[in-house]
Amino acid sequence: MSSLVVPPPQRLRTALTVLHRHMFGPGPSNVPPRILKAGSYPVIGHMHPETFEIMADIRSGIQYMFQTRNPVTLAVSGTGHSAMECAIFNAVEAGDSVLAAVNGIWGERVADMAERIGARVNTIVTPPGGFFTNAQIEQALSKHKPVLLFLAHGESSTGVLHPLDGIGQLCHKYDCLFLVDSVASIGGAPVYMDQQGIDILYTGSQKVLNAPPGTAPISFSERACRKIFNRRTKPVSFFLDLSWLSNYWGCDGKATRVYHHTGPVSAFYALRESLAILVEEGLEHSWERHRKVAEYFHTGLERMGLKLFVEDKALRLPTVTTIVAPHGYDWKEITSYIMKTHNLEISGGLGPSTGMVLRVGLMGCNSSISSVDMVLAALSDALTHCHKSKF
Ligand code: PMP
Repeated sequence: MSSLVVPPPQRLRTALTVLHRHMFGPGPSNVPPRILKAGSYPVIGHMHPETFEIMADIRSGIQYMFQTRNPVTLAVSGTGHSAMECAIFNAVEAGDSVLAAVNGIWGERVADMAERIGARVNTIVTPPGGFFTNAQIEQALSKHKPVLLFLAHGESSTGVLHPLDGIGQLCHKYDCLFLVDSVASIGGAPVYMDQQGIDILYTGSQKVLNAPPGTAPISFSERACRKIFNRRTKPVSFFLDLSWLSNYWGCDGKATRVYHHTGPVSAFYALRESLAILVEEGLEHSWERHRKVAEYFHTGLERMGLKLFVEDKALRLPTVTTIVAPHGYDWKEITSYIMKTHNLEISGGLGPSTGMVLRVGLMGCNSSISSVDMVLAALSDALTHCHKSKF
């Protein structure tokens, strides 16, 4: 007689299988075989010299991808949200003034995170699909005197690619750090961290990089480090404390590294390989490919009679496209029909764009003419077969 109160779950008696699916939502995207294979290599220790070499490769790959020479460049063990919190928790102290530019969900989330640690948070807000002029930003900087300004470069909930030029310089004029979210844009649209005066830049592994979710590249400028390493108080999170992380990643120049947490080595292998693929293709080539494929996609959508949510072509995110939810249809029926019939994920809106849009992500290896043709065919089929109201 067993002493166990909880019996073994029947379903766990069979091995796992997961079938292929076209991942054309806003993320995660498909992971190509070379990256999947890297993730399956033998696990070695998180403090072994070979792992440190892999981590050094990752750091140089991120510096290339971000176009930065910042020594404090690493990958957080966690998804994009962990990098957001790493940025906020380290750069902001209780009582500091923070300014979040909100043109979708990501500014809202950052405002929430900063409030949780006792910051004085102000926002500038546009309706979904909008952006901020440099004059609007300067006005808010001079009014609120924040220590940090947050801006999403690729607003994946609304499909806006926010202009970056000149904003870093404005921040510096007002003695403010410039924090940029590039989770949905990096590798798919130009970012020059150093030249654009970005002080903290982060992204995720599961979008253009085509690695599994779970690692989040981040980099800190010298100005950001000056503030962070001269804090009056310790960051609220031990796990995300940049002093610890920069030692583990070999960014602090110290001869010895101290155990902080068990780095997810298999995720590091996959991230390393995804960066190697980006290096192989070349950053500029990747930007150009995403731009051309997006243009081809947008033309195809308009030919079908669909409307793009972001009217100004220059502001359209090439990685995640937002389509005005087709009139007379239930958007949920469209996404479920496409999933069921075409084994293909696209999604609805998120946060402030819920109910307003359909979102299609074509990122990294998914940014191709053949993927676009597949999505256009699936959408056209859905519009023929899904229920349409007469009004
Ligand atoms: N920022 C942006 C722009 C994103 O698109 C996402 C993911 N959808 C995140 C942050 C959060 O990343 P994660 O889901 O990996 O935590």
